[in-house]
Amino acid sequence: MEGLILAADIGGTVIRVAIADSQGRMLEKASTLVPKGHDARAVPMKVLELCDALSIKYGGRRSISKVSIAAIGPLDITTGAIVRPANMPYDRVPIMEVLCDCFDATFILLNDCNAAAIAEKLVGAGKDVDDVVYITVSSGIGGGVILDGKLLLGKDGNAAEIGHMVVDMDMGMTCGCGKKGHWEAYCGGNSMPKFAKFLAENKYSNVDSILARKLREGKHIISAKDVFNYARSGDEFALMFIDKIAEINGAGVANVVNAFDPSVISIGGSVTLNNVDLVVDKLKPFVERYAVNRVPKIVPTPLGHDAPLIGAILAAINPPPKSVFKSL
Ligand SMILES: [Zn+2]
Repeated sequence: MEGLILAADIGGTVIRVAIADSQGRMLEKASTLVPKGHDARAVPMKVLELCDALSIKYGGRRSISKVSIAAIGPLDITTGAIVRPANMPYDRVPIMEVLCDCFDATFILLNDCNAAAIAEKLVGAGKDVDDVVYITVSSGIGGGVILDGKLLLGKDGNAAEIGHMVVDMDMGMTCGCGKKGHWEAYCGGNSMPKFAKFLAENKYSNVDSILARKLREGKHIISAKDVFNYARSGDEFALMFIDKIAEINGAGVANVVNAFDPSVISIGGSVTLNNVDLVVDKLKPFVERYAVNRVPKIVPTPLGHDAPLIGAILAAINPPPKSVFKSL
């Protein structure tokens, strides 16, 4: 009997793990929060912990013949690590150093959005087309691009880090990566509260509302989720902020349209999936404003939060180039 697949999606906030059979059918899945302590090895250790719990009735780790990891970038595919991620408090997360000792298996490592793009192409929003882009708007912003049926990887496997495209040279927000003006520094879930505070104190300093006052006072912990909740309750500043985010997201998506000319753009990630109306619907007019190429179909991912996890399973069955870290 062929062994099972262990798939994991290591995001900035959540780790999702699944066990699948050799045909790619998901048998079990679970998720947990990314540990944010001192030791980065805790991240792959969480994958192991969930694997042990999920695989126990199939014979445990011995039943696994493929380990496929989709992780936030940037990745170092030669050592199998995440290096200086914008959305995790670690300098280096040694995924494969930890996992390779624990399984007698083939190991696959790819960017989480590249994995999600594979899922979209094979079973999601892009299954009827050759050109599909997956975009996540989550803790951070990332992308995966399949053009002419082929996944774009680049020299280090880090193609389509679209969250770090420059969308602003004026307000100068600093991204989690340390550089300024990046799309993610405005619209990524981790950055949104900082950008909201900036607008409340500067460009929109004449707007008065409960959220604007709280941001200016600076003694409240405001999350991206809070900002969306204030917008839904009709807070004037929150509504203006959501419109500003829509414009910047629209510019980012238009950049993707102009660079890659896809037939379908599928948008996922927790910020999107929890606020489809305020994120996807609102950015579309701005894509029309900024795109030169014909605007493609833009949809929330039909695969939900599992898009990268499903992609990791599919990549285990048919690994894209440069993704096999170690063969059995
Ligand atoms: Zn950046």
